[in-house]
Amino acid sequence: MIDRRKTVTVKVGDVCVGSEHAIVVQSMTNTDTADIESTVLQVGQLFEAGSELVRVTVNTEEAARAIPEIVHRLEEQGLQVPIIGDFHYNGHLLLTRFPECAEKLHKYRINPGNVGMGRHHDENFKQMIEVALEYHKPIRIGVNWGSLDQRLLVELMDSNARLPEPREAHQVLMDAMVRSALESAQLAEEYGLPHDHIILSAKVSAAPDLIEVYRRLSGLCDYPLHLGLTEAGMGTRGVVVSTAAVSVLLEQGIGDTIRISLTPSPGGDRTEEVSVAQQILQSLQIRSFSPQVSACPGCGRTTSTYFQELSEDIERHVKVKLSHWKNTYPGVERLKVAVMGCIVNGPGESKHADIGISLPGTGEDPKAPVYMDGKHLKTLKGPRIAKEFLEILDEYVSKRYAQGVVEIDSE
Ligand code: SF4
Repeated sequence: MIDRRKTVTVKVGDVCVGSEHAIVVQSMTNTDTADIESTVLQVGQLFEAGSELVRVTVNTEEAARAIPEIVHRLEEQGLQVPIIGDFHYNGHLLLTRFPECAEKLHKYRINPGNVGMGRHHDENFKQMIEVALEYHKPIRIGVNWGSLDQRLLVELMDSNARLPEPREAHQVLMDAMVRSALESAQLAEEYGLPHDHIILSAKVSAAPDLIEVYRRLSGLCDYPLHLGLTEAGMGTRGVVVSTAAVSVLLEQGIGDTIRISLTPSPGGDRTEEVSVAQQILQSLQIRSFSPQVSACPGCGRTTSTYFQELSEDIERHVKVKLSHWKNTYPGVERLKVAVMGCIVNGPGESKHADIGISLPGTGEDPKAPVYMDGKHLKTLKGPRIAKEFLEILDEYVSKRYAQGVVEIDSE
């Protein structure tokens, strides 16, 4: 169990972020918010995939006007997911001109680098905080290095240049990220926003920078922290760089909510960012979301792809059954299934799982021993191995996770 740093708790709709509460998975739509139908559809998909908060951009009057209807339709469909409005440049105008939008959103994301320049910066920021106060909404101060408060950065760069031994510009940039987040939070509190209505984030695109900035922030404040890289990228690169950065912080007890910013391939599935966030939390054994199927990578000891196909079949089977299982068999998300390719690691790994199968490798007898709770249950043979194993799996789930039987591990 990770010793989580104590932060205050911020309530976003019915979801609690921070302190002892579970680390919250969130995501963001990429639809045009003014397109109500597409946005409701995608929010629903993200929510069904497990996103506990969903952010939408509110960039135009049409988008602000669409928010009440989006929230209404989601409620009508029974999708109880808090919606966060993402504001840049004109947030002060949209939030004041469209009070129903301000009221219906559950949180406002404010980027202090994008609220206006000079004296307008503080005036616009104050205007947004006043709306948050009026409607009792929490905010996220979301600093991003791509849109860092230029006044603050120039001020820090100038002071640094006057030092006898100036620090590297990159270090000053990191200082500016941290100060922008903390000073904006302080300003929000001076304008009257309660301490427990503020979440902070300071996003960068390189893993070492993210780790540094969040370590510093976590040592300097007790606001809940929203973790995530900005512009993580596409495909494997995006998944790996996000996992590397976020995992180090989570393992140190830093972070109260996460979003994995993946760029989907054209026509790709937006919900991938939710699956990756869940998988990170589950791999670190911080939270459990669905049964885990471990398969060996295969090697020259097994020339057939049978075990890969079986492992895929099991993954698919678990996916199809998951919602029913979760409703009927509490604790099933902690189930561990092993599918192994040969006798070398097969029986050992299968014994460590709740239920496992070791398929025959090249030259081995064509039989597949099945292990349950560490003990050999039976050996399967012939063409129905896959089907029989899935039947055994279903029976195991229905018996072990029947209501009141399973012991739920504390997380
Ligand atoms: S369990 Fe067998 S088939 Fe799988 S990687 Fe190990 S040696 Fe290869």
